[in-house]
Amino acid sequence: MKIGVLALQGAFREHCWMLERCGATALEIRKPAELDDIAGLIIPGGESTTIGKLMVQWGLMEKIQTRASQGMAIYGTCAGMIMLAKEIIGSDQPRLGLMDMAVRRNGFGRQRESFEAAMLVPEFGSEPVCAVFIRAPYIERASENIEVMAIVDDKIVIARQDKMLVTAFHPELTNDDRIHKYFISMINE
Ligand code: GLN
Repeated sequence: MKIGVLALQGAFREHCWMLERCGATALEIRKPAELDDIAGLIIPGGESTTIGKLMVQWGLMEKIQTRASQGMAIYGTCAGMIMLAKEIIGSDQPRLGLMDMAVRRNGFGRQRESFEAAMLVPEFGSEPVCAVFIRAPYIERASENIEVMAIVDDKIVIARQDKMLVTAFHPELTNDDRIHKYFISMINE
């Protein structure tokens, strides 16, 4: 199975390694035409304003929206989660706007710029997920078509809407491949 990783900026290489480890073929995506051939797309963490600007410049915004409407699955981590939100609180930066939620950038505050949290996520079994948060956003509001999968400090940090999955943290920086495996199973559904 071919899965693309948006490779404009940020932590895309780690996602590619994780996908390969899970048995998928990872492709770095920079041009609109490269989206034709993939069953799923990962939008990595990084700086969402930069990723958004480059997505507009490289003509990727509309093409990703079109491919999503055709059923291509998307997984956004951290800045990738911000890119998927309809509403980014206090910002008019470019976005895909595909998920019915409002996100708050850097929502965990300065004292907690980066931290790790262990959380139990029923979908991933009885072993807690160890999540690495780096200047992470969270979901402040989600409409009822969004499935909330994990909450930390009363903040939503994993969610799913149809074939779109988001995590506020970076599983690609850990050894835990369950979330990537879950994304692959979403594509296969
Ligand atoms: N704070 C970044 C942003 O707002 C996201 C950080 C990350 O992706 N690790 O885009």
